Amino acid sequence: MTNSVPNTAVKLEDVVCTFGIPPKETRAVDHVNLEIKAGEFFSLLGPSGSGKTTCLRLIGGFERPSAGKISLFGTDASRLPPYQRELNTVFQDYALFPHMNVLENVGYALMVRGVAKTERVKRADAMLEAVKLTGFGMRKPAQLSGGQRQRVALARALVNRPKILLLDEPLGALDLKLREEMQIELKALQRGLGITFIFVTHDQGEALSMSDRVAVFNNGKIEQLDSPKALYDSPRTEFVARFVGSANVIPGNLIGRTGMYALRPENIAVLEGSQIGANRLQGELLDIHFLGSLTRLEVRVGNECLTTMQSTSPTFERGARITLEWQDSSLRKLEEAV
Ligand code: ATP
Repeated sequence: MTNSVPNTAVKLEDVVCTFGIPPKETRAVDHVNLEIKAGEFFSLLGPSGSGKTTCLRLIGGFERPSAGKISLFGTDASRLPPYQRELNTVFQDYALFPHMNVLENVGYALMVRGVAKTERVKRADAMLEAVKLTGFGMRKPAQLSGGQRQRVALARALVNRPKILLLDEPLGALDLKLREEMQIELKALQRGLGITFIFVTHDQGEALSMSDRVAVFNNGKIEQLDSPKALYDSPRTEFVARFVGSANVIPGNLIGRTGMYALRPENIAVLEGSQIGANRLQGELLDIHFLGSLTRLEVRVGNECLTTMQSTSPTFERGARITLEWQDSSLRKLEEAV
């Protein structure tokens, strides 16, 4: 039964997932609607407990929805067990078999499916090459670095050519530099293979740098689903404005308007002294943080503390009276939370 366009890999319709029994139940996923296109690098982003992992587990078939429907490539998969879904998962702890060498780990899924040994070795070797681990086949997982283990886990999950790869915070155990390298490699790998990647992370930088689109989760709901640029440039709610990048959230009454507004720190210019005018606020410079290529200024305006980023080091001293100025187009009116 086909119920959506063929290029839709995953469709969630009004999906709810509740744990526990009333009155102590947790609604981990709360009426989520979402469509992921085939070949897309899609991230589920949100703070701890926001429901992103449960959502991924629902797609993988490790949890059953309490209500709603999950389709994979146009077919209702709500009741299918994980092994009947054309997908695979990379878990944060990699879950490699310690007694098997790298080649055996990668070829395991093929062995289970009865693929002959020569074919198995050929495909596992090709996959190891794709994750840049040629020559590591005979090592045991204990003889690898964290980053290398991560690549083995990826190769193992990709060797049987799933249509969708689910990745649950796969870079969480790596140090920052390695994580950044792996982000670039993962994206390149995904592009090269053309497989749909669904990636769970609480790291907004990670989500922004790799994804075609990102769903921002808060309290089991999607607050915004957009491209990284649209999320950053046009956050819809205060939660998204604060969680994706940093933003000043300005009450409208401070600037003669109604509602709440987001203004990115890099979109605020600083002028010397108190200068009156449209799109300007006068304040006191509270603090200056030198960050290398940028300098962050904390400025008190009325009861608010606003942040601005400057690419040149300002000449003002702490305590100086200064004026903040922005373009009208940089101001984003925020909606109430969903
Ligand atoms: P994290 O980044 O910490 O993993 P998350 O955004 O992935 O967080 P989930 O793991 O999806 O969030 O959890 C969402 C909510 O559901 C949390 O309140 C969590 O405690 C609850 N929850 C998740 N799994 C279960 C379970 N098996 N039984 C009971 N409650 C659960």
